[in-house]
Amino acid sequence: MEAAGADWIHVDVMDGHFVPNITIGPDVVKALRPVTKKMLDVHLMIAPCDPYLEAFAKAGSDIITVHVESGPHVHRSLQAIRALGKKAGVTMNPATPISTIEHVVDLVDLILVMSVNPGFGGQKFIPAAIEKIQQCRALAAGRPIDIEVDGGVTPETAPAIVKAGANVLVAGSAVFKGGNQDTYRQNISAIRNAAAAARGEAA
Ligand code: ZN
Repeated sequence: MEAAGADWIHVDVMDGHFVPNITIGPDVVKALRPVTKKMLDVHLMIAPCDPYLEAFAKAGSDIITVHVESGPHVHRSLQAIRALGKKAGVTMNPATPISTIEHVVDLVDLILVMSVNPGFGGQKFIPAAIEKIQQCRALAAGRPIDIEVDGGVTPETAPAIVKAGANVLVAGSAVFKGGNQDTYRQNISAIRNAAAAARGEAA
């Protein structure tokens, strides 16, 4: 992925409880750490998250993102991530309003807008996410906060996503299709070029 042009490596952690699927844990983050210098952007879809923050930090995560729905004390979770010396991200499911994160905006380096219901790859982009990206960008105004979008990102959806104010695009299925290094590079370029064109930049 690094050779194919990815800027960051996004890691989707699922627990079979907060979301209906099980993926990976801190050991896989630890195994990834020596093979890339890129940002390891770890998205925790687990509940509770607090007992595992230290393990994901020690495993080598650079950014740890937690869901507002994963427990009653998201403020505490974000403080804990920062106390571990990591960048803190917050996210919410598509049906959760951004009012739930307004009170923690000073504690985050990244806001992740879920544009599918978390739990599985390969889902279609939810159009209502566009308005949410705009709301998050407005909420973050004047602060050094990345606005990231996860779910259904393709060369077709990327232009509207970046026009709405997102600057970090997560893609899984759209990157891995084709199954070899050449197609990975083409797939990443296609998303990057679509985003650049939408921002009015030369690709
Ligand atoms: Zn994710």
